[in-house]
Amino acid sequence: MTVLIRGKELAEKIVDEIEKEVKNYDKKPGLTVIIVGENPASKVYVNKKKKTAEKAGFNSEVIELPETVSQQELENYIDNLNNNPAVDGILVQLPLPGHINAYDIIEKINPEKDVDGFHPVNAGKLVTGLNPYAVSCTPYGIVRLLEENNIEIEGKNAVVIGRSNIVGKPLASLLLNRNATVTVCHSRTKNLKEICSRADILVAAVGRAKLVKADWVKPGAAVIDVGMNRTEDGKLAGDVDFDEVSEKAGYITPVPGGVGPMTIAILLFNTLKLFKLHN
Ligand code: NAD
Repeated sequence: MTVLIRGKELAEKIVDEIEKEVKNYDKKPGLTVIIVGENPASKVYVNKKKKTAEKAGFNSEVIELPETVSQQELENYIDNLNNNPAVDGILVQLPLPGHINAYDIIEKINPEKDVDGFHPVNAGKLVTGLNPYAVSCTPYGIVRLLEENNIEIEGKNAVVIGRSNIVGKPLASLLLNRNATVTVCHSRTKNLKEICSRADILVAAVGRAKLVKADWVKPGAAVIDVGMNRTEDGKLAGDVDFDEVSEKAGYITPVPGGVGPMTIAILLFNTLKLFKLHN
């Protein structure tokens, strides 16, 4: 029987635990999110982050900047936040407008406040097996889901579809650090279906609705769906064809209610970790 991995439940547990812990402190952890422009999906994510952070008892601020903000102005905001002792975590919501160099913005964030784990110092620490100040939220959330469901990682064939700096690459490092045999696939990969069908753990982080079909999946595999795609009828769909694949997989995450809520829970986990580092 296929096990449905309910990320929402674990995420709520993590947030509840954080809320309890934060009540014991005189100071509140501070999380500041910068959002540039009017991207509707980004606005939804940022609102969710703010609401959950407030529920956990954090000081949560959102800085909304116009689409026209310059590189220099944005960097000045980050400088101010880097120097503000009330701010433990800084998150710049991606994507940024085309005239902004996102790499330079991420590099501007103090690595000890880089709650997303995207700064090269944190990404580098992750790859080298050192302890990053923070690990990218979505990949770490996925590993927590695997561990919570007692899905063995060591020695297993893990296939990650997608090689973004946000999901695919850090997830590959996390799995490799836990002794999986990791294959990273991307848009130029040949024989994608055949590679996927050898996976004990298959993670889809692509951005193509229902790309992964049942005949791509090894019977009993753990299938983790990161994708968040809007279909023509306005519904949210993952990268995995859930109806087909859930008949064959051993474990599967739903969309919504799987990986998404874990991303936010780990964001709070990371903020609390950085708060403890600063206090
Ligand atoms: P991205 O666009 O940066 O990367 C997509 C990757 O998929 C690329 O590496 C590309 O090479 C690969 N790819 C594209 N088409 C492919 C194909 N046909 N076959 C194989 N590989 C292909 O995207 P991202 O930021 O990594 O996000 C991926 C998806 O995950 C999106 O749907 C995004 O919305 C979602 N996402 C969800 C969460 C969450 O919290 N649930 C967090 C981040 C991203």
